[in-house]
Formats: sequence, C-alpha cells, structure tokens
Amino acid sequence: MRIEQSVEDYLEAIHIISQTESQVHQVDVARRLNVSQPAVTKAIRKLKELGYVITEGMHIYLTDAGKVRAESVYEKHKVLRRFLVTLGVGGEFAERDACMIEHIISDETYDAIKKFLNEEEKN
Ligand SMILES: [Zn+2]
Repeated sequence: MRIEQSVEDYLEAIHIISQTESQVHQVDVARRLNVSQPAVTKAIRKLKELGYVITEGMHIYLTDAGKVRAESVYEKHKVLRRFLVTLGVGGEFAERDACMIEHIISDETYDAIKKFLNEEEKN
C-alpha cells in the first residue's frame, strides 16, 4: 500500500469514527480498517509527524490540517459511491470500490464525475 493511501485511509477512518463517537480510540481505528494495533500505532506516529493528529493517551484527535485532508478524502468517497450506485453497482461494492478509487483518481476525472452527477440530478 502506498504511504499516501494509507495516510488517507487512516484520516478517513478517524474522521468517520469521530462523527459517531465522542472519543476516537486506537482500537476503534484498528477494527474499522481491519488492521493490527501495532499497525495503528505506527500509522498514528506517521500522522503525528505530518501534523494531522494529536494524541492524548489512547485518544486520537484530528488537527485542523488533518480535518481538512480527511474531509476532502471522505467527500470524494461519497461522490464516488454515489456515482457507482448511479451506474447500478451494488451498495457493498460501491462502498468498497469508492474507498479504493478515492486515493488514485485524478482531479480531471473526479471533476467530470461531479459534473455528471450534477447534470443527472437536474433530470
Ligand atoms: Zn473511503
């Protein structure tokens, strides 16, 4: 897995968990991403170096920069999922594939998809 992709996956996971839980714990992140606790510890260290998170004990918080990056990934995720569902892709596959495409899609293609969905909604 590319470093960038894993950084974005972790930020997205922390962001999603923080929408429903008051505190984000390492164990929640490990469960959500289906990775080991040591893997989370390592990733969190990297995210801290990048200035995207701060930690207090076992709790993880996104910094402002972390929030901006996480929201942009999650936004892409939602748009791509909607696009795939529009194409007739089943919910589970749309969810999973959106989560992979979000990391590698070019701005060009992403903008075209957004435009397509906007047109679609007008009809
Ligand atoms: Zn995603």
